[in-house]
Amino acid sequence: MALIALLAGDGIGPEVTHEARRVLEALDLGHTFESAPVGGAAYRQTSHPLPPETLALAKRADAILFGAVGDPEMDGLERALRPEQAILGLRKALGLFANLRPAKMFPGLEDASALRPEVARAIDMVIVRELTGDVYFGDKGRSITHTGLREGHDLMRYDEVEVARIVRVGFEMAQRRKRILTSVDKANVLETSQLWREVVNEIALDYPEVKLTHMYVDNAAMQLVRNPGAFDVIVTGNLFGDILSDQASMCVGSIGMLPSASLNEWQGTCGLYEPIHGSAPDIAGQGKANPCAAILSAAMLLRHSLADEASAQRIEAAVIAAIAGGARTPDLGGTHSTAAMGDAVLAALQ
Ligand code: ATP
Ligand code: MG
Repeated sequence: MALIALLAGDGIGPEVTHEARRVLEALDLGHTFESAPVGGAAYRQTSHPLPPETLALAKRADAILFGAVGDPEMDGLERALRPEQAILGLRKALGLFANLRPAKMFPGLEDASALRPEVARAIDMVIVRELTGDVYFGDKGRSITHTGLREGHDLMRYDEVEVARIVRVGFEMAQRRKRILTSVDKANVLETSQLWREVVNEIALDYPEVKLTHMYVDNAAMQLVRNPGAFDVIVTGNLFGDILSDQASMCVGSIGMLPSASLNEWQGTCGLYEPIHGSAPDIAGQGKANPCAAILSAAMLLRHSLADEASAQRIEAAVIAAIAGGARTPDLGGTHSTAAMGDAVLAALQ
């Protein structure tokens, strides 16, 4: 029996994590749930997006099921108090440097893809994104230039240890899949990317059976829509991974379908599981959100943190069956509500 921390957050976060919890409870695995506020919701209650009690629960729990944070009404707050700081703070505090983002075409969803069906059908990849470095965490600031212009900067930096540990996750993942690894960088322009490439080439010596390709991020963006079926595992930095995985989501139908796992080591048990989408304020409170990404995140939680592969596969099969049976939220071109989509998955679970 495990303790699962439920950090639902803002916008559609509570709506989609509710469905994920229903699915986990239906499996009757005996796990317990404990909820805590996070993001804008936490700021409203405690004046802090990541209250100490929430962080303590996250550290105490066996795994974290996370919804989303972000609230347009809080755009004016100083950066340290904004909802998004909660997820950045959690990743940093728990050392969750490895973000796994599987993107696979679900049978029957070809019509929802932005790509031609025959191109979309071949998609089955994992994006391994670095999560605790890069421009997101480097020095940031504003200043005035000597000519009086406003100026902003965000420092892009990586050290070799940060690169090596995420690149190893990429190789390990590739080793267990089709053994094709694409390392994405911008080494023709960026010093961090040159370091990245050097480290990748060094680690590649330990994985002679993995076919390694280096690709510039602009080319990777193009190949992702031209021939996505050629990718198996992509390993990349925080910024490039953020952008490429949103792009990949449209290739497989909807951002509402893609789960993620954030881990502190390869096959480590400490993990945070969340949809790749955000709080979607434009549709929050309307019962329109697709809960599949959250439900599939719960499956990843069982797989990675609780070593329960069988239950993870049951959930994934139920989502596939619900989709195949015609269940579609509006983002997939249908009319199912969030709850009705959850019901369809629950029905398929039986
Ligand atoms: P973040 O900065 O947290 O990544 P974002 O600005 O990228 O957030 P999202 O919240 O991911 O934005 O929303 C992007 C678009 O996708 C919005 O139009 C939103 O309505 C839609 N969207 C996101 N998640 C879902 C979902 N689960 N179901 C349906 N539509 C969604
Ligand atoms: Mg986004």
